[in-house]
Order: sequence, then structure tokens, then C-alpha cells
Amino acid sequence: MIDKLFPFHFVLDRSFQIVQKGHSLSKIFSDVTSFDDVFIFKVPSLSLEQNFDAILNHPNQLYIIEIKGCDIFLQGQFVFQNNPDLLFFCGNPWLKANADIKKLNLSISDFALHNSVIENANFVKTSKEEIEKKYKLSDDFLKQQLFFERLFDEIPVDMTIIDTEHRFRYLNRNAVKDDDLRKWMIGKTNTDYFIKKNLDIELGKRRETLIEKAIIEDVEINFEDIHHKGTEREVVVFRSISPFTTNDGAKYFLAYGLEITDIKKNYIVIEQKNKELEKLNKELNNLIYSITHDFRSPILAVKALIELLKKDQFSNQHTKDLLDLVILSIDKLDNQIIDIYNFIVNINLDVKYSKVDLRELVEETFKLVEHVVPYKVKLILNIEDASEFYTDQYRLNIILNNLISNAVKYSKNSDDNAFVEFTAKVNEKECFFSVRDNGEGIPENLKEKVFDIYFRVNEKVSGTGLGLFICSQAVEKLNGTIELNTILGEGSTFTVTIPNSIEDKGLLN
Ligand code: ADP
Repeated sequence: MIDKLFPFHFVLDRSFQIVQKGHSLSKIFSDVTSFDDVFIFKVPSLSLEQNFDAILNHPNQLYIIEIKGCDIFLQGQFVFQNNPDLLFFCGNPWLKANADIKKLNLSISDFALHNSVIENANFVKTSKEEIEKKYKLSDDFLKQQLFFERLFDEIPVDMTIIDTEHRFRYLNRNAVKDDDLRKWMIGKTNTDYFIKKNLDIELGKRRETLIEKAIIEDVEINFEDIHHKGTEREVVVFRSISPFTTNDGAKYFLAYGLEITDIKKNYIVIEQKNKELEKLNKELNNLIYSITHDFRSPILAVKALIELLKKDQFSNQHTKDLLDLVILSIDKLDNQIIDIYNFIVNINLDVKYSKVDLRELVEETFKLVEHVVPYKVKLILNIEDASEFYTDQYRLNIILNNLISNAVKYSKNSDDNAFVEFTAKVNEKECFFSVRDNGEGIPENLKEKVFDIYFRVNEKVSGTGLGLFICSQAVEKLNGTIELNTILGEGSTFTVTIPNSIEDKGLLN
């Protein structure tokens, strides 16, 4: 019975030898018999002489005895039954925080009658782990908090967090350098600060109004603060107030300011320079435009005069041959002027949409360029127009002219079957067309380069190297794409896709 009630009980004889012990205690030490080998009196400690008779004479004394080396205390009383030479210690075990009952071969059932111990043991165990975990978490949290505070202090921006009552809840060191003042400002408003620092109260009021606007409208507000306006010390600060909501639903405003005095000054200088450049650019364009425009008339006049000279009865064959060479050079010069003119116009002229007749345009263009070669080149037309086609006719002309004239220029007369095939499909969304020839083709590795300014594959045929560059610029202006497929010695196909601006016709015509 006693063993069931007190599984940690033990019986001492007069020489403090343990003559009997409860089954739970036996698990901790089975062999030991001497009290001093395993126990230490904790309470009472030194006040009572701890010998057999002294214990007998204080029957009501509460004892706390430590079991050496295992973090268990026994708490109870000594009693004697019939035999005055034996003392029974009836006590409950009490676990210290780091007691490891498993290591002692004990289990919960050893404490079954001692709920307080079990609860305590569980509590001690879990709380110890939890406390450690919590400690670690709070330690991590603290470290993280310090990390972010340090980081925010380093950001070259003054940063504050304001609540819906306009009160500062956080300020980084850049916002207020003085540590004491920064602490003072927590819970204060901008107005409090401006009054305390004797600053321009109007600036403070303006800030309050903008904060209020951000609060009421729940939107980000950006503005500039100018301090010492118009003086040498003028400072411009870009400020932003933006609302944010924390995880628990609380609303705050992140307000930050970035000094932009230098940026602003540079910006004004850049803006001025840009305006000057724009003006210069316009003047230059006008100059090139008028040069190219005005140059053409005397050149064409010279060409006409030379044609007349050729027909003159006094001209001999040699002179005629020389005049042909002069005409060739004049044509080359004229073509260059046309290319430069187109280039300038493409950059400067606004896009203007109108209805275009693709078939007519292609046929007209072909007529103009087919005589560039001394042999016959056939034009094949496949046009499927399911819809009207609206685009910028001027730029479309540049594109067609370059692609069709190149197809003729770089054709081959070897089999007497040189052709230019123009295929087009027009729908409401876009116009897709291709210009295919069976000419000399382009080496695969130069495919992309042909669109570069002044790039020419060879000098066999005269040209400027500007045509495809201007062509691709014109396609870009129309928001289209251009691609080239080519096989050296077999021919080339240029494919163009441009949007059909059918919907913009009314707006931009
Ligand atoms: P240009 O014809 O004045 O030389 P382009 O920019 O129109 O300049 O063309 C660049 C180069 O691409 C040409 O020099 C030519 O070698 C090559 N090229 C263009 N179109 C074709 C074509 N249809 N077939 C073969 N080569 C072409």
C-alpha cells in the first residue's frame, strides 16, 4: 500500500542506511544503501542536526531532499511505524527544470499519483522548450529589428511613419539627426515640430494639408518642399506620402523625402540644352531638306541639257559616250539626294493616313524602275484585298520604291526570266506583302546587315546603301515589321507587315 501511494518512499535505519525503497526510487538506484550516497537534505539545511533522533523529535518537519545528480527533489515527512528504529520517508517527487526522466529509466506512470508533478513535469518540459524557442525568436526579432532600424538609418532618404492622427510613429536618423529630438517627436505632429524648431510655419501647414489629403483620399501624394527659396542656400526636397495597411489592418502613412537640389539644377540645365538641341536639330533638318529639295532642280536641268547635247549634230560618238557617263553620275547624285530627302522627311513628317490603292502604287513604282536594267524584268502581281487599306501613302511609297527597285537592280538576266513577284494580303487588321525576286540573293551572314545605314554587299551595281535603312525606318514609323529571306544565287524575298489603319482614317485624315 505504502509503495503504491509513495513510489519514491524509503526507510532508514538508525545508521542512515536505506533498508527499503519504493519501486520508482529503485529504478534510479537499485544497489545503493547509504542515505549520504544518494541524498542531500535541502530543507531544513543546517538549522537541524540531521541525525536519526533529531528527525524523530521533529515529527511535523517538512523535508526537501535532493536526489543527487538527477534533478529530482523529494518533498515530504519522516514517520515511524511501530518500530522506533526505522523511519519512513513519505514524500512526493518534485522535478527541476532540466530533469530528464527518461534518462533515469522513469516514466509518467512513476508519477501517476502526483498530478502536480506530472503537470509540473510537462509544464517544465514544454515551457523550457517554449521559453528557449521564444527567447530565440525574440532574440532573432530584436536582431532583425535592429538590422532594419540600422538599414533605415543608412538610407539616404528621410523616412517617417505617420498615423491617421498625423502623429509620427517612426523616424529614421536621416529625418532627425538628434537622438533626443527624434525620441521626442514620437507621438508629435509636423506642426509640433515646426513650432518647436521655429521653422517656417507655412511649410508645416502645407505638409499637414497634404498629409490630410493622403489620409482622406487614401492615395499617394507627391510634392516638393523648397527651403530658403531664392537664396544661395535653396534646398529642394522631393516628398512622398503613401498609405499602407499593416497585417492587423492598421492604417499608416509612409512619408519620405529625398533631397533633389542638384538633380533639379541639372534637370533645368538639361532641359535648356534639350530645347537648344531640338531647335538646332530642326534648323539642320530644314537646311538639309531645302538643300536636297533645291539641289534637285539644277541637277535635273544639267541632265536635260546634257541630253540635248547628246542629240546635237556636232557631237561625235566619243563625246556621246562621255556624256552618257556624265548622265550616269548625275543620276547617282540625284538618287542620293532623293534618299537623303526621304530620310529627313520620314523623320520629320507626321504620319498621315489615307486610303491607298496597292495595285496602282506597285504598278506605277515598277514602271519607274524597270528600265534601271537593260533587259526585261517581269512583274507578277498577286493581291488579295479583302478590305480597304489605310496607311501613310508617303511612307508606303518609300518602302515599295526601295524594295521593288532593289529587286530589279539586283536581278539576274542569265535565263532571260528575271521577275519581281509582288504578293499582298489585306484584311481589316493588317496588310502583309512580300517582294520576291529570282536575282542574285544575299549571303546568309549579311542578311541582317543590309538594313544598316550605308551597308552594301558589293559595288558591282551603283547605289548609296541608304535604301533599305530608310525603308526599315519607314516600316518602323508605321509600327510594322520587315524580314528578309534570301538564298545566295537564287533570289530574295522581303516580307513586310503593317497595320491597316482603317479605324484611324476618320481621326487622322
Ligand atoms: P543600295 O541598293 O543603294 O546599295 P540598299 O540599302 O537598298 O542600298 O541595299 C543594301 C544592299 O543590300 C545592296 O547594296 C545590295 O547588295 C543588297 N540588296 C538589297 N536588295 C537586294 C535584292 N533584292 N537582291 C540582292 N541584294 C539586295
